[in-house]
Amino acid sequence: MRHILLVMTTLLMGILATSSSAADPLRALIVDGQNNHAIWPKTTQMMKTYLEQSQRFSVDVATAAPQGSDPNFKPRFSDYAVVISNFGHGAAAWPAETQAAFESFVKNGGGFVVVHAANNSFPEWPAYNEMIGLGGWGGRNENSGPYVYTNSQGDVIRDTSPGKGGNHGAQLEFPIVVRDREHPITKGMPTEWMHAKDELYDQLRGPARSMQILATAESQITGRHEPMLFTIRYGKGRVFHTPMGHAEYSQECVGFIATLQRGTEWAATGEVTIPVPQDFPAADRSSSRPFNK
Ligand code: ZN
Repeated sequence: MRHILLVMTTLLMGILATSSSAADPLRALIVDGQNNHAIWPKTTQMMKTYLEQSQRFSVDVATAAPQGSDPNFKPRFSDYAVVISNFGHGAAAWPAETQAAFESFVKNGGGFVVVHAANNSFPEWPAYNEMIGLGGWGGRNENSGPYVYTNSQGDVIRDTSPGKGGNHGAQLEFPIVVRDREHPITKGMPTEWMHAKDELYDQLRGPARSMQILATAESQITGRHEPMLFTIRYGKGRVFHTPMGHAEYSQECVGFIATLQRGTEWAATGEVTIPVPQDFPAADRSSSRPFNK
């Protein structure tokens, strides 16, 4: 009898160990160091905190030297399930070795999350443009790829006519319209929700291959619905791209926090287990959590 109990206890412990390992935190890496948004050291801390608060991630940060191409910037991407970029406009090129390591990381199934001005970075790096799908500024124009938006019927338009890539108007609160309610990242969100004050990027351009738009927002500049949450497949890798997140008050939006958490989990695993929170914004009401750290 004692033997049977011992065997059963051992089996039970084995089952518990197996099920708890499924909930082990995913390793995430935020890369930063050069961003035209001077607030970047704080937004990195905010995003690190938001990801860790979900209890789904452990987060490291790799910071490049403040100016010029940093020969010592060589994060071990392959140690991580997902990389989040908080680089911005004007960031110097990564060393060729680091670029190659990052390309193979994503191509082989690594996750990548593009936040706001990270889509301004590295206009001269073809694989990076493929990964982000759409970008802005840095000389981007019709040669970078189509300007992608949705019309009033919700059809995706790929406009190849000449024009600049990347623009925004004055900051404002604006409604986000979910275009795919079945995608793991957006499932369970209201069809429309009010985003806190932010820049609304318009006229982004890029290769836009293997790209899916999950949500849009109507720009007062273009009168068109601009992509606000979208995904890109690059090799076996998954990329989640949010053009939102200009300032700390933009990132305090519960819509930003929840889409960052859920988009990062999807990029890392292809699934989302983090719930849509109770204080998620509604169509007529933004919702923010003041960040005190
Ligand atoms: Zn900005």
